[in-house]
Amino acid sequence: MQVTPGEQLAFEEELIGGRGTFTENGVIYSSIKGEKIEDPKTRMISVKGKEFEVVKPGDVVVGIVGSISRQVASIESVTPEDKLKSYPSIKTFLRISELSNSYAESMRSFITIGDIIKAKIIEVKTLGIYLTIKQPELGVVRAYCTNCKSELTLRGRLLICSECGAKQQRKMALPSNNISAPQ
Ligand SMILES: [Zn+2]
Repeated sequence: MQVTPGEQLAFEEELIGGRGTFTENGVIYSSIKGEKIEDPKTRMISVKGKEFEVVKPGDVVVGIVGSISRQVASIESVTPEDKLKSYPSIKTFLRISELSNSYAESMRSFITIGDIIKAKIIEVKTLGIYLTIKQPELGVVRAYCTNCKSELTLRGRLLICSECGAKQQRKMALPSNNISAPQ
């Protein structure tokens, strides 16, 4: 039987979730599109298909900074969407400890609400996907002025608003020279 990502397959008390599945609150779901396979001997349910459709630690994603508290920011509209739809209700977070290799006093000197960030996944858990922007090529790719919402432009190490003249600070993603342009 063909199943799609996020489809309910069984309850954890009945079967064991194998490859191509994930379990949340005792329910086993398909994490990929493919053929549902139940092994009566091992009581394992798995989905045979294209495994690359799910996100995993090490993957690079892009998202918008939705809200910021003292310790953590929530990241919204995260792409690639097709890899994330396996996790219908999952939220994506960036903790203060993952902003920089040195101590970060305040999240807002690294990222601000509305900024678009490029980040790497470090953990995929039932309650959330956790990101990092510690590496030089990760961080803000588009920053917007906190005063007037215009896009900021980078001059040297400072971000300048051409509309209102504000000077702002972010952890910008440095362009990486050895990554070739997408086809
Ligand atoms: Zn401005």
